[in-house]
Amino acid sequence: MQNFDENVTLITPSAPVAVATHGGRAKCLQRLVRMDLPVPDTVALSFAAVKLIASGRVPDVSRILEPFGEGALMCVRPSSEDPDWGGPGAVLNIGMNDATYVDLSDKIGHEAAAELYLRFVKNFAVHVARLDPDVFDEITEEGSAGLGAALAAYEAETDERFPQDAGQQLTEVLRSMARAWEGTSARLLRQAKGAPADAGLGLVVQRMALGLGSGECGSGVIQFVDSETGAPRIKGRYLSQSQGREALLQAEAIYLEKDARGPSLEEHAPDAFEKLKDFGSRMRTRLREELQIEFTIEDGEIHILDGVRVVRSNRAALRIAVDLAESGVISREEAVLRIEPRALSELLHRQVDPNAPRDRIARGVAASPGAATGKIVFSAADAQASASRGEPCILVRRETQPEDIRGMHAAVAVMTERGGMTSHAAVIGRGLGLPCVVGIEALRFHMRKKLLVTRDGRQFKEGDVITVDGTTGDVLAGEPAMLEAAEDDGLQTLMEWADEFRDIEIRANADTPADAQVARNFKAQGIGLARTEHMFFDSDRLTAMREMIFAHAVEDRRAALERILPMQRADFIDLFRIMAGLPVCIRLFDPPLHEFLPSDRAGLLNLAEALDLPVSDVTRRAEELEEYNPMLGLRGVRLGVTVPEIYEMQARAIFEATIATQKSGATVVPEIMIPLVSAKREVELVKTRVDAVAAAVRTETGQDFTYRLGVMVETPRACLRAGDIASHASFFSFGTNDLTQMTYGLSRDDAGRFMSNYVSEGVFPEDPFHRLDTEGVGELLDLAATRARDARPNITLSICGEHGGDPESIAFCRKAGFNYVSCSPFRVPGARLAAAQFAL
Ligand code: PEP
Ligand code: MG
Repeated sequence: MQNFDENVTLITPSAPVAVATHGGRAKCLQRLVRMDLPVPDTVALSFAAVKLIASGRVPDVSRILEPFGEGALMCVRPSSEDPDWGGPGAVLNIGMNDATYVDLSDKIGHEAAAELYLRFVKNFAVHVARLDPDVFDEITEEGSAGLGAALAAYEAETDERFPQDAGQQLTEVLRSMARAWEGTSARLLRQAKGAPADAGLGLVVQRMALGLGSGECGSGVIQFVDSETGAPRIKGRYLSQSQGREALLQAEAIYLEKDARGPSLEEHAPDAFEKLKDFGSRMRTRLREELQIEFTIEDGEIHILDGVRVVRSNRAALRIAVDLAESGVISREEAVLRIEPRALSELLHRQVDPNAPRDRIARGVAASPGAATGKIVFSAADAQASASRGEPCILVRRETQPEDIRGMHAAVAVMTERGGMTSHAAVIGRGLGLPCVVGIEALRFHMRKKLLVTRDGRQFKEGDVITVDGTTGDVLAGEPAMLEAAEDDGLQTLMEWADEFRDIEIRANADTPADAQVARNFKAQGIGLARTEHMFFDSDRLTAMREMIFAHAVEDRRAALERILPMQRADFIDLFRIMAGLPVCIRLFDPPLHEFLPSDRAGLLNLAEALDLPVSDVTRRAEELEEYNPMLGLRGVRLGVTVPEIYEMQARAIFEATIATQKSGATVVPEIMIPLVSAKREVELVKTRVDAVAAAVRTETGQDFTYRLGVMVETPRACLRAGDIASHASFFSFGTNDLTQMTYGLSRDDAGRFMSNYVSEGVFPEDPFHRLDTEGVGELLDLAATRARDARPNITLSICGEHGGDPESIAFCRKAGFNYVSCSPFRVPGARLAAAQFAL
């Protein structure tokens, strides 16, 4: 583009102005012009024009000045493609010089004109001519006294008179704004907000509506919704004899609507107020958005200078989208598309107020969203004691184990030194809706001294108050201001609309009746994964589980299993009852042994007492069971194959629970899932035994039932052999946590230690335990899905790893034609919304 003039456009209804070439503000102003609203004359400079100016070309501004005429005052504002990318500040009153000063003095009085001129000189000196701000800050006199001083200071600093030519003033303003956009800090700032490296800046030059003078004159800002809640409400301020956004800064500005707190525009200038409301409502309908409107009143007449999208919290964004759709301004589809799925977590959990100061002491993996403040405790027992005193506490552990579950229930948040997105604390935290940060490398955990020490030596001891922000991964000192969870009708409505558009099902991972209830409340379409070993995390049950794992002799194990059977049966009855006919997929035991062995002497002693054995025996047995790589050891189906009576007991509990539930008139078709499979023969062995148990239960009870048997595909070999394995499985659920771990050869419990480093170095674009690695792990999923469907065309496919709640991962599953994704209950609403957006 060499022709500057071609890139200077007077905004008329038909002028060629577009967001992609002139920016959002220019386009918005054109829309307002098309609506015939009183918008002052505006000239738009395209991105290309501004780029030319930035590169040193001296623009011929005569074409810009043409529509304004001799003696007019103008302002210049930025117009970037996305308002969030920022831009240089507006410059007002260009054209002010000795001659216009005299003219204006007649119109608005000597002092008011001098004040305008003074402000322009100061602004120009500091922001355009880049003179020392201190020199001009020192001029504190107002009006004509200040003006003389400012003009003299300008001359002293530059050895030149203050520019009197409007063209020269405008040229310099344009150049300074164009260069500011190219500056390094501005570029970095906008790139951090997602702007591309070559993002352009447009500029709009607008005739000043003065806001000063005789009759009612002034300026203000109005919006019609509350920025925090999104509820309809007139908000803003108006200030007589003012310009720009001054009304928002000055204490003497008045309210807009009649207000008990003070005078208002409605009383002061009722006609102007009515007109403003009318313009506002037309703008909302036509621009299909809630806008903040900048306006000026000049001798009683309203001028609309600008309309920008109302700044809003996530909560307000949701309410606004739903209200716009309900009033027919936008479609339901569009309302669904306007809400960021991740933003829903803000509505479902308490959050640190984004405007509150943060005293961050460390950062880790943001493992479970929401924020909570409490006193530091270093053990589950202390957490329970604290809760019983009614004192909120934060449970601090190196990593959590089943023994810690009670403590997690008692605490308001959890933080661990180790772990990643799928470690124990993270999975349980998300299940409970408990804020959780794991893998906190920057903090030293002195568990015995009950002390946390930051890199720069700050110490936090037991009882000190900290805040865990599981949304950002921050650990903060003290108690910042919080925003409460704000689940409201708007959310329900939006979710219902999302469900109309969605074409993939969403289930929840739920292990306990409480989880299942949350899943139901969030309208999950079933349970996609009930981790049965998690049902044994409570301390009274943990011992039963350990006895079973510890048993050497078959009869000891049978005795332990007999104790466990009724517990399991009751668990399943609860799940079936709560899910009321929706599918419930129960995974057979998959206890990585290290999660269930006592880790300290107290635990060993406890178990010795329960088993009535000497501690030395128990210790020896624990040593026998110890594994170098517990995540790759005697887990899942390997336990099921080598100790068959465990899965037989579980199958019996499932079938007996099915019959019990059916008796109450409900339909139940349980799904039984075999974990950690890597060979077809494993499935054959388990299937034969489960079928035999089913036959036995049918005979014993005289009752019939059906069930589905499926495989959790979470080893690379199972993916490769999917065709083979599918012959025995009516469904596959991909366990992407383990599959990611095994595909990368990267321990899910240790990944947190270096993950942030790996992400910041660009080795991984994202934590692969958080966002599905669609290239690597995804290729295995695709390959397995194809092979499975070839062997069994109607096989049900899904994922149940933590990725099930992540929007990008859901997009992958949808594209791969999976039937459903399953995720933690609190992530179900976000997953429903994301799935709908991909379908639209
Ligand atoms: C998985 O591996 O993806 C999974 C869901 O199971 P778990 O996290 O219990 O290993
Ligand atoms: Mg797994």
